Amino acid sequence: MSLINANQVLQHADRHGYAIGAFDLVNLEFLNGILRAAEAKHSPVILLIAEVHFKYVDIEQITPAIEHMASKASVPVVLGLDHGETVETVVRAIRCGFSSVMFDGSKLSFEENVKQTSLAVQIAHAVGVSVEAELGQVGGSEGSDGLAVAHEEFYTDPKQAEEFVQRTGVDALAVAIGNAHGLYKGTPKLDFERLEAIKKLVPVPLVLHGGSGIPDADFRKAVQLGISKINFFTEMSREAVNKVRRMLEQNGKIIGLQDLMLGATETIQEVVEGRLEVFGSAGICTRFNDLCAACGACSFATMPASAPLDENRLVELVSEVVAQTLKARTP
Ligand SMILES: [Zn+2]
Repeated sequence: MSLINANQVLQHADRHGYAIGAFDLVNLEFLNGILRAAEAKHSPVILLIAEVHFKYVDIEQITPAIEHMASKASVPVVLGLDHGETVETVVRAIRCGFSSVMFDGSKLSFEENVKQTSLAVQIAHAVGVSVEAELGQVGGSEGSDGLAVAHEEFYTDPKQAEEFVQRTGVDALAVAIGNAHGLYKGTPKLDFERLEAIKKLVPVPLVLHGGSGIPDADFRKAVQLGISKINFFTEMSREAVNKVRRMLEQNGKIIGLQDLMLGATETIQEVVEGRLEVFGSAGICTRFNDLCAACGACSFATMPASAPLDENRLVELVSEVVAQTLKARTP
């Protein structure tokens, strides 16, 4: 099974009331830990690489390894760009082989976010790649070590979300409802009423970013109220570091970096397995035979694959869009 786009798993999750875990990776230890967990739990999984992590990971280098692992996996695997900051990054990820992208224009004005997200959608959809966008601002900052707080003035407005999805044609929407990136300062308080209101008006699957530190009961409630994808990174990383620290404390003579990496991989697997249980996606591949990629008879196997990427067509499309944009700007 090769990589599939996020729509295929998110719509299934939306229909059946569970959420897909989306885990950021920066190297092969994360990749192996996350994939082993998904296979052990018979769960579909979304692998993410965030633009803010590009200084740690070369996407052109790691994507072939991810594609290779996905082709051998017994569960559906999506590879998504997390928080693409520009349309250029979106194009780079698509060219690299990502099956899903997130364009994050949440810091732009509403109109500019609509404009740039629509452009990303136009390009991605032309080659069968799904697009997630963000409206409102998720608190904290991706990839930071500081404690995060969510600010109510940046929460997603339900009516605006409805208009945004309708005008941009995005496949999934990340919402700000009290969630924040990084580790929370105190216990996060999710605005469930707002989530319900958004779910009523927005027809596409909803995404919760900033998963680390949200209590299990709140995750379950958020999923019940319509969250179909949960992004998760910080806690996985923190637990892996704690494991390495313990290994060094127990045996100060360790000189095998590979042994520490092995320890980190095992911990990442444990953390991810726990999350897949809480998000409700554990066992999904065995519960629904339309989802079991390994059996070859499931809907994932028979669903039309994403349009194969034709690089020339992508270059053509981008040129057309750029030409149109420049033309529109000329007074
Ligand atoms: Zn995020």
